Amino acid sequence: MSYTIDGKTGPWELVIGLEVHAQVISRAKLFSGAATVFGGAPNSQVSFIDAAFPGMLPVINRECVAQAVRTGLGLNAEIHLESRFDRKNYFYADLPAGYQISQYQHPIVGRGVIEIELADGEVRQIGITRLHLEQDAGKSLHDQHPTKSYIDLNRAGVALMEIVSEPDLRSPEEAGAYLRKLRTVLRYLGTCDGNMDEGSMRADVNVSVRKSGEPFRTRCEVKNVNSVRFVMQAIEAEARRQIAVWEEGGTVLQETRLFEPARGITRSMRNKEDAHDYRYFPDPDLLPLKLDPAWVEALRADLPELPDAKKQRFMAEYGLPAYDAGVLVAEQASADYFEAVARGREGRFAANWVIGDLFAALNRTGRTIETSPVAPGALGELLDLVADGTINGRIAKDVFEDMVESGEAPAEIVARKNLRQVTDTGAIESAVASVLAANADKVAEYKSGKEKLFGFFVGQVMKAMAGKGNPALVNDVLRRHLA
Ligand code: ADP
Ligand code: MG
Repeated sequence: MSYTIDGKTGPWELVIGLEVHAQVISRAKLFSGAATVFGGAPNSQVSFIDAAFPGMLPVINRECVAQAVRTGLGLNAEIHLESRFDRKNYFYADLPAGYQISQYQHPIVGRGVIEIELADGEVRQIGITRLHLEQDAGKSLHDQHPTKSYIDLNRAGVALMEIVSEPDLRSPEEAGAYLRKLRTVLRYLGTCDGNMDEGSMRADVNVSVRKSGEPFRTRCEVKNVNSVRFVMQAIEAEARRQIAVWEEGGTVLQETRLFEPARGITRSMRNKEDAHDYRYFPDPDLLPLKLDPAWVEALRADLPELPDAKKQRFMAEYGLPAYDAGVLVAEQASADYFEAVARGREGRFAANWVIGDLFAALNRTGRTIETSPVAPGALGELLDLVADGTINGRIAKDVFEDMVESGEAPAEIVARKNLRQVTDTGAIESAVASVLAANADKVAEYKSGKEKLFGFFVGQVMKAMAGKGNPALVNDVLRRHLA
């Protein structure tokens, strides 16, 4: 699919590439033993290395390397058995060393691919250019004092994975799907928590526009966008700006821009710096990073089942439509919950309940699947009561709402409220007879051809039976009486 905005001189196509910074899940930083917990008191998690004291030597954290390799494997990417660390030099108050240790020409992970699925079901492969490890910087706090800025170095030295995509994305929707899919994969792998609101995943968004079939034009980079929605809005805003520039005969200049969500625009921040401005050079304190192929294979063997594979399996094993399977695998916890309900039961039936009733209840009560008031075992028992005819489907909805409220077991609710399905034809016959007697006029209309009224009679009989009639039997008896 190509995204076009109709300008004066015809349709424009968007070209988008994302650089995602993903904070590595690890107890310690990339080159120091300091802690990485979110929300610690300022400067309480800073080692001499993070504070760049003279003479301190960085020591690579094996777990951070393992996390990068796991991520590379999960992105179907090449793992480079030898990679290098470079110094990226720049001055900023929250970067005490005056350089960031990063990987420039020899990243730990090379080309890979992410599969995204769009709303219309179209599937696209988005190329990953590379993944490299680097240190995060500290944080400047400008709002703590009227005339001073403060520096918090807790984040300084925390391991980041920078995951760079090819310029393969063509619309805000595709960029959103890419980010959500990447976040899902990272969470499955346990290598990044993907919490964009805590800053553990943020994106630099590269945007250009062109006429279909043309070579790429100049791009601009929108820095540090921190939600999927803002990424999509930033692309839209930046594309509109560039199209207007080209349409008016101007030239888009390569630059770094900022997105202002409140105004829905991007504004210029600085001219784009080039790699040579950073004077990258190999960090003399660090040897090339060499990985043992057997260690990499052990990490591969230990990977969890990833969302794409799980989705295929849900379709094959439980007979789910692709859409339902996709919804369920978007989060590992939902997938696990579904499987606990579906095992040994009818898969589609279980999926409908999880995606429909359960998700609605979680939304309404502000809970997540992890804090669900209804455990998968309890939902499974409810489905069994429907499957074996103890209650009908309509009553099951009420029992479920009761379970959400009270946490009580479904069989107890059914017993306490006397909700068993009525299959006794005598009781159904008499309910039908009294409903038909009370609605003689409608019966006459029905018999003179207004067959739509059948549904009305079913509803009245069910109502007379407090919803507990067996729907198939009610239909049979009604038909016989109205014949
Ligand atoms: P830098 O590190 O200087 O930002 P990179 O070569 O790493 O530059 O590219 C950064 C991102 O820009 C990548 O995600 C890439 O896909 C994207 N990109 C490159 N060219 C274009 C373009 N013409 N339009 C949109 N995005 C682009
Ligand atoms: Mg960049």
